Amino acid sequence: MCGIVGVVGTPFASPETLQALMVLQHRGQDAAGILAHEINGHRFHHHKQHGLVTQAIPENVLPRLQGEIAIGHNRYATVAIKGDRSTRDLQPQFVNYPDGIGMAHNGNLPDAPALKEELGREHRRVLVSENDIEVLLNWVALGLGENSSADPFTRLSRSVRDTMKKAKGGFAVVGIWGGHGLFAFRDPQGLRPLVLGRKVIDGIESWMLASETSALMFTGYTPVRDVSPGELLFIRPGHQPESVILQEEKKAHCFFEWIYFSSAESTINGLGVHNVRLTLGQKLAKQARTLHSEGRLDVDVVVPVPDTSRPSAIALAESLGLPYRELLIKNRYVQRSFILPSQALREQAVYQKLTPVREGLQGKKVLLVDDSIVRGTTSRRLITLLKEAGAASVVLVSTCPPITNPCYFGIDFPDKDELISARRTPEELATDLGAERVIFQHEDDLKEALSGVPLCTGCLSGVYPVDVTAAAERFRRLRAEDRSAHDANV
Ligand code: SF4
Repeated sequence: MCGIVGVVGTPFASPETLQALMVLQHRGQDAAGILAHEINGHRFHHHKQHGLVTQAIPENVLPRLQGEIAIGHNRYATVAIKGDRSTRDLQPQFVNYPDGIGMAHNGNLPDAPALKEELGREHRRVLVSENDIEVLLNWVALGLGENSSADPFTRLSRSVRDTMKKAKGGFAVVGIWGGHGLFAFRDPQGLRPLVLGRKVIDGIESWMLASETSALMFTGYTPVRDVSPGELLFIRPGHQPESVILQEEKKAHCFFEWIYFSSAESTINGLGVHNVRLTLGQKLAKQARTLHSEGRLDVDVVVPVPDTSRPSAIALAESLGLPYRELLIKNRYVQRSFILPSQALREQAVYQKLTPVREGLQGKKVLLVDDSIVRGTTSRRLITLLKEAGAASVVLVSTCPPITNPCYFGIDFPDKDELISARRTPEELATDLGAERVIFQHEDDLKEALSGVPLCTGCLSGVYPVDVTAAAERFRRLRAEDRSAHDANV
């Protein structure tokens, strides 16, 4: 999962991209980059580095990133590229021919190795990174090179259509085509989000594409609409967007955007994240009331794990008539534990990032609300922290149903061996985590909360919207390599 941004039509394309990347920081904290383009003069300017946005792109590099088009990327490393400190795999990526093309994406292509191999075998293209975007970029560039006689939008449409036919998986892409404009496209299932916004200042119209509406609103853009699944958008400076649906398939939006990834103020596929999280809390309250009436639940305070679960915890407390208390205080300067690239770093971050409020916890029977339970690292540590700080008992509530299968579309849910809910009943899980009880959202309630939105629920059910056979094999091999590298280092 990553954050992407594209801006066209303003001399402030790079500064606005930088601001938007800061707002999307929660989507990836490993690295960030900007590619800017001056149409007149046909120059590209590139900067990318590891670290948080403000570290990776200090403001003093902005004067170098000139142009009326820019794209930006926040990187969240997945299994294939963890731990590599070179900038080779960072985004945006760029190829010279034809005209200079740069692209950045959010997502994952399960068939990337086969597509890469075909590029080398059939087209003598040499790829240098392990990043799927380089595969997409080369397929798009190849198509543009072959379709040189038609008008630019037709050329781009043909090229992206051919790329979409080959590339199965989750991807939202922003790109710059040198001398022409900004383009964006989204996978036909709509697994990864992408929204379009518009701004007019002093009669000058500019456009932004971003992973979330929060980035649009922060930078003064009015959200116009989601980019549709399978759609290509092409925006030339001073022109209205041109668009075409290139491929239509059954939609399957990633439900985890509403549970965890997106900011509460964002609207994803037409559904407000904050409202969905409130509804998820109300659904959980129904379960809690039933358990209470059966004498199987005894709690006296609702405590959220900040920040994502807060709206759900508030709704849950309101529905149950219990006090809501912020008794875990977050250190804002420590990275989110789930998206750190190793188990050791995740465990260390959990110790550092949340501090319990001792005076509020003495003798309390806590209903602890978290967005999800993936590896169990955070939950186990938090329950220990709360009990050490004086809590009499802890019941853990997850706003997400049990995650029992990997994700092959850009979220780092590991294999079943590491997914703590995959091989335990909720009772066994409670014992393992040190909780009195674990309550999960029911899958039906999750679907009701996201009513009307067609969903991917592959990590819950093991049934995915695209064939993942090759991806599963690739992930198994990479994990095995990861493990043997780890074993060799201990
Ligand atoms: S498998 Fe789960 S995390 Fe991955 S895209 Fe589907 S819903 Fe999202």
